[in-house]
Amino acid sequence: MAGGKLQAPRGTFDVLPADGPRRAALRRIAEEVFAAAGYGTIDTPVFESTELFARGVGETTDIVQKEMFTFEDQGGRSLTLRPEGTAPVCRAYLEHGMHKLPQPVKLWYWGPYFRHEAPQAGRYRQFTQVGIEAIGSLEPSLDAEAILLLAELLGRAGAKGIRARLSSLGTPETRRAYSDELRSYLRAHESELSDEVRGRLDANPLRAFDSDHPGTRAVMQGAPKLLERLASEDQEHFQSVLALLDEAGQVYQVDPTLVRGIDYYTRTVFEFTSDALGAQSGVGGGGRYDGLIEQLGGPATPGVGFASGIERILMVSDLEAPGAQTDVYVAHDGDGDPREAFRLLRELRARGLSAQMEQAGRSLKGQLKQADRIGASWVLIVAGDGVRVRNMRTGDQVEGLSAEEALGMVG
Ligand code: AMP
Repeated sequence: MAGGKLQAPRGTFDVLPADGPRRAALRRIAEEVFAAAGYGTIDTPVFESTELFARGVGETTDIVQKEMFTFEDQGGRSLTLRPEGTAPVCRAYLEHGMHKLPQPVKLWYWGPYFRHEAPQAGRYRQFTQVGIEAIGSLEPSLDAEAILLLAELLGRAGAKGIRARLSSLGTPETRRAYSDELRSYLRAHESELSDEVRGRLDANPLRAFDSDHPGTRAVMQGAPKLLERLASEDQEHFQSVLALLDEAGQVYQVDPTLVRGIDYYTRTVFEFTSDALGAQSGVGGGGRYDGLIEQLGGPATPGVGFASGIERILMVSDLEAPGAQTDVYVAHDGDGDPREAFRLLRELRARGLSAQMEQAGRSLKGQLKQADRIGASWVLIVAGDGVRVRNMRTGDQVEGLSAEEALGMVG
C-alpha cells in the first residue's frame, strides 16, 4: 500500500552527520569534566515501569500527570519512556546494592529522554540529557560540586548568557507546614489566581511560583517564602553550600521562588538559564533528593545531582568541532583496475589512515573534484600505467609508481 511521505513524529528530530561532531565534542567535554571529579558512567534502560516515575517523580507533577509516554507491554505491564534520569539511577543504585560500595557513589549519564510537551524551539518530545548523581552523602560539598560541575560543563562548551539561580526547599516536614501556610495565603487571593493554579491548590501549591499568569505572579510577589521557614540545620546546610560556591568564585543568585517541577527535591535546588534562549530558557537544573531512595523502597539514602539538555546547550554555545577528516582518496581512471583500487583502500585503512574511494561511477575529473570536496590530503589514482600520487595541498603529482611506492608516499 503506497502512502504519503513519512516524517519523524512531532517534537522529534534526526541527528544528521553534520550535527554529529558538535554533539560528540560536547560529550567528550562532559566525560573529561566528570571523570576528573570521580564520576563513573551509568546507562539505564530507555523504558522503566511506570510505577518508578509515579513514586519517584510524584503523582501531582506535570511530568507524571501530562507528559509521560506510557504504554502496556504484551504482558499487560505498564511501562513508560523515561522522562528524567534521577529516579532510574536511584532504582539502579538500589537494585545493584550500590549502598555496599564506598559512598558517595558518583555517576554520570548521557542519553535520550521523553516528555509529551508542546513542541517549540528548544522543547522536544525526545531530547538528550547529560547529568550526574552523587548518592550516599549529605555533605554540602557535593551540592557545591554538582553546581560547579554544571557550570564547568557549560563554560567549557562555550554556552552564552548563563545565569545560576539557587534555593533550598528544606525537609519534607518543613515543606508540608509551609505548603499549608502558602495554601491559606493563596486561598485568601483565590480570585486573582489562574484556573490552573487554583486547580492545583490542594495538591501542589508551590507550583504557583512557576506560573506566568500575571495575576498569579502579582500574588506570588507577596507570598511567604519557604527559604524563610527553613529549620536551622537546613539553613546551615544551605549556607555551607553558598560559602563553598563563594570560595570557588561561582556567581549565583539566591531565588526563593525557585521550586522546580519534581517532588523529590529536598534542601538545595538550582537552575541554570541562558539569556540566549527564548521562553525555554532552562539549560540545566537539579538539586538534592534525600528522600527519593527511601520512597523507592530502599533505606534512607541522600543524593544530589543535575540534568542538562544538550540540545539547549548547543543552541547557546559556539562550540566548534571539525567533521571527519579524510587522508586519502583512491581514484581510478578508465584503464585502472577497480579491484586494485579497493585493495589499496583496505591497505590504507589497515595502516591507520582514513581513506575513501570512488563509489559513484564519476569520471576522473569528477573524482578529483570529489576528493577536493571531502578535503582529502592525497589522491591515489589507479591508472593503466601504475599508480599516480597527487598531493592535494600542492597539486604536485608523481606517476608510474608501484602500489607499495604509492602507499609509502602517503603513509
Ligand atoms: P528538568 O529536570 O525538567 O529541569 O530538565 C533538565 C534540563 O533538560 C532542562 O534544563 C533542559 O535543558 C532539558 N529539557 C527538559 N525538557 C526538555 C524538552 N522537552 N526538550 C529539550 N530539552 C529539555
